[in-house]
Amino acid sequence: MPQPSTIAIDGTAASGKSTISQLLAQRLGYLYFDTGVTYRAVTWAALDRGIPIADEAAVTHLAETLRIQVLPSTCGDGRQYTVLADGQDVTWAIRRPQVDHGVSPVSAYPGVRQALKQQQRSVGEAGRVVMAGRDIGTVIMPDADLKIFLDAQPEVRAQRRYEELRDRGQPAEYDVIRQDMLRRDRIDSSRAAAPLQAAPDAVIVDTSDLDIEGVLGRLLALVQDHDP
Ligand code: C5P
Repeated sequence: MPQPSTIAIDGTAASGKSTISQLLAQRLGYLYFDTGVTYRAVTWAALDRGIPIADEAAVTHLAETLRIQVLPSTCGDGRQYTVLADGQDVTWAIRRPQVDHGVSPVSAYPGVRQALKQQQRSVGEAGRVVMAGRDIGTVIMPDADLKIFLDAQPEVRAQRRYEELRDRGQPAEYDVIRQDMLRRDRIDSSRAAAPLQAAPDAVIVDTSDLDIEGVLGRLLALVQDHDP
């Protein structure tokens, strides 16, 4: 049975998408593409340039003109990849709470999604890819060979994000993270353009009671059992 070549992994904020998608891609020898970084890069650039997040026309123009590059990691500071925005290394800056806060309104703008869609699709067209996001199985790669939707209880997700930031030495407050995460899920799920939702043919995996190895094992089993 041929292995799935295009794998879409969608899910709620901090459900483990990035970690798991990267590990899965590594195991399979596939490319890993985290589409969230493209929305984060636009949000970071808007904040950096003093463009109000509420200014849809200006933010959309920014998304249309900003040069976003995702490159293999070249330094050993724990990064999964390097993200450049107009040539500037923003790999860690796009993980700051201010970006967390602004990214959902930015990604709800249809023009922003339109601007980033083609770039994301073209990565998928080459195959042998694990692509992670919110609308990969529904909009970006609706014909993906395997679609997975990851979720976990909000408290578990907030705790994971809290520990992640703390381990990196970034300021973190559990309650603030939890509130922001729930707000992000609410905006992402209720927006008109490409809302966060599981594709009808996605396999839903609840990661609340699983550690990383456990989730990876489940996903590898889905890849093995894949029935084209
Ligand atoms: O996955 P991550 O948490 O980095 O994504 C940040 C934000 O980018 C999400 O909360 C969502 O608003 C947006 N996003 C999206 N569509 C994607 C990936 C991310 O709208 N495919």
